[in-house]
This record gives sequence, C-alpha cells and structure tokens, in this order.
Amino acid sequence: MQLPTNSARQLEIGDHTRERIVQRHGRRQAPEDDAGEGLPVGLYAAQCEECFKWRLISSQEEYEDIRSRLIEEPFTCHRKTDTSCEDPPDIDYDTTRTWVIDKPNLPKTPKGFKRRLVLRRNFSKLDAYYVTPTGKTVRSSTKMLAFVEANPQYKDIPLSDFSFAVPKVMEETVPESILKSCFSSCKRSKKTKDESVDIDGR
Ligand SMILES: [Zn+2]
Repeated sequence: MQLPTNSARQLEIGDHTRERIVQRHGRRQAPEDDAGEGLPVGLYAAQCEECFKWRLISSQEEYEDIRSRLIEEPFTCHRKTDTSCEDPPDIDYDTTRTWVIDKPNLPKTPKGFKRRLVLRRNFSKLDAYYVTPTGKTVRSSTKMLAFVEANPQYKDIPLSDFSFAVPKVMEETVPESILKSCFSSCKRSKKTKDESVDIDGR
C-alpha cells in the first residue's frame, strides 16, 4: 500500500494530537521483560507544529515531558538542541514502521515508577501498565488505588498522575501480513472501551 506523500500532514491536521510515538516492528526481538506479551515502543518522535517535520526524542522521560504540556506548549524543532525547521526531518512518517498516535497532556510518570506500553502481537491495540518501585506490575486504576492504599508511602501521588490511556494504532502502518491475517477481524469482533474513548477524545 503506497501512501500519498502528504498523508502524515493530513493525518496530523485531522487529529489535534501533535505528537506520535513510533513503534518499530519487524524481526527485532522484544526485550526479555516484554517477551511473549507484545512489542515494546522502539522510538519516540514528535512533530513540529510549524514545519510538520518529525524529530526523534531521545528518551521516554523527555518524551513524556513534551507530551505532558503539549496543548499549552506545542512542539517545535527549536525544542531540540541545535535544531531548526531548516534541518531535514529525523524520521519520516511512512510504512517502514508501525506508528501509534498518542494523546496529548498525559501525566508524566511519577518518580520511581515505570510506564510501559506494549503493542499486542496482532497489532490490534496497545496496553499500558506501570511497574511500581517495589517491582509490582499494575494494569488498571483500580489496581493502582489498591497498591497505593497498601503502600501509604505513595499516598502523596495523585491517582490522576497514573494514566492507562493508550495511543491509537495507525492502521495504514500495520504490516500487510498482519492486516491480512487478523487486524481487521480482531478490530471488528472486539470493539474495546479504549477505542471509543479515543474517538470521543478528538
Ligand atoms: Zn520545525
């Protein structure tokens, strides 16, 4: 499937989210902690709201910082050291990778916790979870509430600082082999809560 050259821009305008994270797919093996579970995020990128070029963001922490204030402070090339809109893009939005589009203004991961996003092996959706400072995996707000209640040293962290909102999988960037085998039927047969949240959130 060949995309029109301006598709990224059209998509970008069609969705007020100005930031996407990219997820590399292919032969690369998932790290051990995600083995068997799904594909981890490979690269982070943000799109400049002035020139529409994509800039790679070097760490999850920096990415979350940009994302946490994206509506108030839209991303531009100047946020990156020694980078301007004149420079060629770091990365192009194309089908060589699977892209997932994130929601703006999600909270930064609280100190000591880790936030993980994994793409299901059938590429139908992502799952978000936190790893607590004690090494426990938490997959929902209810479970997080239970964790904080059982561990009062984390009571100062507002529960709203934990978000299980997941990015949207950009269907046109899903590998054709996956699309043919499962993606569409999985989507049709299993309309999840997250998808409707995603639509309402636009
Ligand atoms: Zn720019």
